[in-house]
Amino acid sequence: NPPMNTTLLSGLNPPQLQAVTLPRQSALILAGAGSGKTRVLTTRIAYLISTGAVSPHGILAVTFTNKAAKEMVTRLSAMLPINTRGMWIGTFHGLCNRLLRAHYREAALPQTFQILDSGDQLSAIKRIMKALEIDDEKYPPREMQNFISGSKEQGLRAHDVEAFDPYTRRKVDVYAEYDAQCQREGVVDFSELLLRCFELLSRNESLRTHYQERFHHILVDEFQDTNPLQYQWLKLLAGQHNALFAVGDDDQSIYAFRGANVGNMKDLLRDFKVEAVIKLEQNYRSHGNILDAANALISNNRNRLGKNLWTSEQGGEKLRVYEAPTDVEEANFIVGEIRQLKTEGLKLTEMALLYRSNAQSRVLEHALVSAGLSYRVYGGLRFFERQEIKHALAYLRLMQNTDDDNALLRIINYPTRGIGARSIEQIQDSAKMHGTTLWDAAARAGGKVSAFVGLIEAMRSATSALPLPEIMEHVLVHSGLIEHYQSEKGAKKREAEERLENLKELVTAATLFVHENEDDSLTSFLTHASLEAGEHQAGDQDDALHLMTVHAAKGLEFNAVFITGLEENLFPHQNSQRVDGGLDEERRLMYVAITRARRRLYMSFAQRRMLNGQVSYGAPSSFLKELPEDLLQWLSAREAPRNPFASFGYSAPAAPVQHSVSSTGWRTGQRVMHLKFGEGVITGVEGSGTDGRVQVNFKHAGSKWLALEYAKLTAL
Ligand code: ATP
Ligand code: MG
Repeated sequence: NPPMNTTLLSGLNPPQLQAVTLPRQSALILAGAGSGKTRVLTTRIAYLISTGAVSPHGILAVTFTNKAAKEMVTRLSAMLPINTRGMWIGTFHGLCNRLLRAHYREAALPQTFQILDSGDQLSAIKRIMKALEIDDEKYPPREMQNFISGSKEQGLRAHDVEAFDPYTRRKVDVYAEYDAQCQREGVVDFSELLLRCFELLSRNESLRTHYQERFHHILVDEFQDTNPLQYQWLKLLAGQHNALFAVGDDDQSIYAFRGANVGNMKDLLRDFKVEAVIKLEQNYRSHGNILDAANALISNNRNRLGKNLWTSEQGGEKLRVYEAPTDVEEANFIVGEIRQLKTEGLKLTEMALLYRSNAQSRVLEHALVSAGLSYRVYGGLRFFERQEIKHALAYLRLMQNTDDDNALLRIINYPTRGIGARSIEQIQDSAKMHGTTLWDAAARAGGKVSAFVGLIEAMRSATSALPLPEIMEHVLVHSGLIEHYQSEKGAKKREAEERLENLKELVTAATLFVHENEDDSLTSFLTHASLEAGEHQAGDQDDALHLMTVHAAKGLEFNAVFITGLEENLFPHQNSQRVDGGLDEERRLMYVAITRARRRLYMSFAQRRMLNGQVSYGAPSSFLKELPEDLLQWLSAREAPRNPFASFGYSAPAAPVQHSVSSTGWRTGQRVMHLKFGEGVITGVEGSGTDGRVQVNFKHAGSKWLALEYAKLTAL
């Protein structure tokens, strides 16, 4: 169908065109950020299908996030007049889940197997350690968790791990027991999804052959971040004859801490006898200044494969840097800028707020909620990770699969129904003694425990014929959760109100889910909750700001990007100093963050921050110093003295100032008069409108920060 091909291919530059139209062979597209790797991958799928080279059935495409997968499907639907439902496009986890669901018997799993998130995994590990009487000071549970997941990601079962010393042997014991327990309960953790799927395919020849004969073209985005197990999985599916089309960027490798291995690129060249290595060097995403800053930053890394990246979009705006006194003021500043950008016609969905660690989002979220700005949190496990949501889902999980010990423990006495720690221990002992699940042990018990068993059974039979949203409502009411949160008083009341809203949002989520999915079973919803956590946030779904960690932003692009919390030890993260190559990895992360921006980039940091209950005083991130000064525009007076009483020359501003203070109406260098403090010069401005603050160096009263709403200043 030539006319379609012309439109499909028009606009591609020569190396992109070459990559898209390669004959069936394995290939590596190695290129920097924003050079069109993902676009090439998507276009290649469309090209292969529209030329009849392969049917949609024969394509397997792996993306890094659910969001990216959805976007790819949407783009393909726009490019091709075909039903995209049958296509296998998803994340490694999502695809493995799909395969295991289709072949649960061969994989020795119950049909309704549930997915254990990392919080549940940790508590399961703690319980096992307790049962095995293992000292949790000598063996921190989190380390144990990393050990187990790490082993799985290397493709190693407990009996494959080489343990020469007693310390490692003990860890292997826990691993073995943990796996046995998961198997009994019919649950799988995230790394298990992959390992189980890999084992299924490697052991079961007929299944393997079936899929190898099916997926003629396997395409992988963000190849630099695949771990060894994922790579082996790809190799297995590709077999001897299928083509692997991998696109990646070594400078954006940001998952080494989870076992990702850039070395896979070299393995790929060898294992798949790759002849076509194509480099793309033109960046189509960002304005020149943004790209120059990113290039300058990443040039500080060693061991790069080395690529050039240029853009025809020269210059553009400078990168805006803002120093706030506190994290709260940083958030307020951002809100002010977002409002400003909105009035300039930018939609909220075209803006993203990025942070290094999830915990940083709380302050930002709070400011956004107060300002009435819609936002969605991507990646991570936000919404579905909230306590009340996990409680509600635990009821559903237990109804679905009574073997799920984690679910049972979570809710057996939540809301409180008079089942004490003693009774729970007795159930656990009895389960251990009889080698049964907790549910079976509970069913043998009497009194309040048996009332709980009865409750779950009653809910199960009452909801068996109901559609998903009604199941949800039924469970929220009959579990007692709604009543429980409604009855909270005093200090906990506000929090409880929020929780109630979240629980209600769960019914909304279920309703949406039913609309969007063919398979609207409870099992499928619970899987969705585990895999897609965090993507149904309250608020206007059409125009909402994007909030996410830098990790979750990989592959995405926005007109305006805010990189927040640029403080030493926060970004670069303090953990990075302890690991070899840690700082380089943080720098790649910063490179990813910068290259998300198309036109405008803000970078901000706070002098004082309260995170995880602790106040810290941070220095600006060393990454800021690695950016060429002439690309930056400081919105706050630079290096203003931390000590508000420090005195400095009255007429000289604290630092070279380049200013845009439009929204407050004040600018640095301006002479002002204050009723109480007298005459002074503005040395810093931040925030906007009446939320704004100015720093004034007064002739007699020294330097002070003043809130514009209250301080009546007059210009001189
Ligand atoms: P990342 O490394 O961040 O994942 P990428 O290499 O995958 O980036 P894409 O997201 O595919 O890059 O492309 C970046 C932007 O450039 C997109 O908006 C894309 O549509 C645009 N683009 C890519 N190629 C071209 C082209 N030939 N002409 C015009 N725009 C293009
Ligand atoms: Mg991409």
